[in-house]
Amino acid sequence: MSTKKTIAILGAGESGVSAARLAQREGYAVFVSDAGPGNEKYLQELREAGIEFETNQHTGERIFAADEVVKSPGIPDSVPMIVELRNAGKPVISEIEFAYRFAPRGAEIIGITGSNGKTTTTMLTHHLLDFAGVNALAGGNLGDSFARLLLDEEPADVYVLELSSFQLDGMVDFRPSIATVLNITPDHLDRYNYELEKYADSKVSIAKNQKLSDRLLVLADQQTIAPALRRQSLDTNITTISPEDVRGTSVFIDGYEFNMGTGSLRGRHNGLNALFAIRIAMILGVTEKEIQLALDSFRPAAHRMEVIPTSDGRTWINDSKATNVDASYFALEAMTGPTVWVAGGTDKGNDYDVLREIVQDKVHTLICMGIDNSKLVEAFKNDVPTLLECSSAAAAVTFANQRAKTGDTILLSPCCASFDLFKNYIDRGDQFRTAVKNLNA
Ligand code: ADP
Repeated sequence: MSTKKTIAILGAGESGVSAARLAQREGYAVFVSDAGPGNEKYLQELREAGIEFETNQHTGERIFAADEVVKSPGIPDSVPMIVELRNAGKPVISEIEFAYRFAPRGAEIIGITGSNGKTTTTMLTHHLLDFAGVNALAGGNLGDSFARLLLDEEPADVYVLELSSFQLDGMVDFRPSIATVLNITPDHLDRYNYELEKYADSKVSIAKNQKLSDRLLVLADQQTIAPALRRQSLDTNITTISPEDVRGTSVFIDGYEFNMGTGSLRGRHNGLNALFAIRIAMILGVTEKEIQLALDSFRPAAHRMEVIPTSDGRTWINDSKATNVDASYFALEAMTGPTVWVAGGTDKGNDYDVLREIVQDKVHTLICMGIDNSKLVEAFKNDVPTLLECSSAAAAVTFANQRAKTGDTILLSPCCASFDLFKNYIDRGDQFRTAVKNLNA
């Protein structure tokens, strides 16, 4: 009989398949099970590696026979298979937790979580380190999963990981040397029994295994983060990042001023993200001079306050990744002149009240882009001079083109999920960008 430890992996996506390959490399007997049809690219990777898998089903006997189970972050804790496994006492962990076991000893593990700004902060942190010659890799919830980063033959000195709360939920021993909680605002509450406290606890649990030699960077937020920190008795070294350290286009840290105006990151929210990334870079020994140069050369990822180059005298911004009210709040706050705002999509139980004042102040035309715009129309019908409705990105751009004058900004920052009209936020942003480019062709 084989003495190999067996592992069952649920979900054949990026995290599941790379965890499977890492497990195989580490000598486990691996079985991957996906309840859906799977993605051909990843199934091919499993075939090439000779890893057994099934699709369109979960074969209970095979999964229960494993010593432990790795669950993809997309699978909620409430699905019957997970409930049954846990009831049976089977360890169910996340890919991050599994990968962590095999991280090189002595490597710095940086875990970045929050409701908004994770991707930007992860990429910026990586850029600041990389620019200064630090051997750093970035991944997790963006790009390559942690397990895939570890498949690399060359170990890195620093792993910068974007972590969603779903990934944090399946953690047991994961201990980042530097953890951040960028902000906590209502999002994904459906997975937390509609309790903001539960969601906040999940985010703050990023630090649950930290020791005093580790660092936890959190936003100064008395409403959500501070109470969550009080509920969990953490044993780490906490630094609070204050929104007051973002002033105009500069951010201030330890008496140094960093100018954000010379780079491409726009908005106060990005000033906050930068404060976190700069603090991490400083902890790891990057100099102020290198940090400023790196800030100047950083290019944010697409779909996040992405300025679409045009020559029509107006500024077109694709912020399709803004899928909640807080993200759109910061986008609107960053507007410095008359604005046409394109919003809408699948509502996630949004409360638009917080946006009303800023919308009255800045937006002259609201274009509601969705299958059902009723909630948005109801919320803002008395706040904007012009309100139009459409159900495609091309139509939104046509309307915006008619309404926006020279010097105006057209901001796509939907506040909503994209699934009513688009495959995802990327498809939505791509269609918007294409329509803007066609206009200018
Ligand atoms: P995440 O990975 O957490 O979704 P992103 O960096 O992809 O974060 O940004 C998502 C959206 O939130 C974008 O529209 C972006 O402009 C906005 N955003 C970025 N940072 C912040 C922040 N600190 N606070 C609020 N909104 C933010």
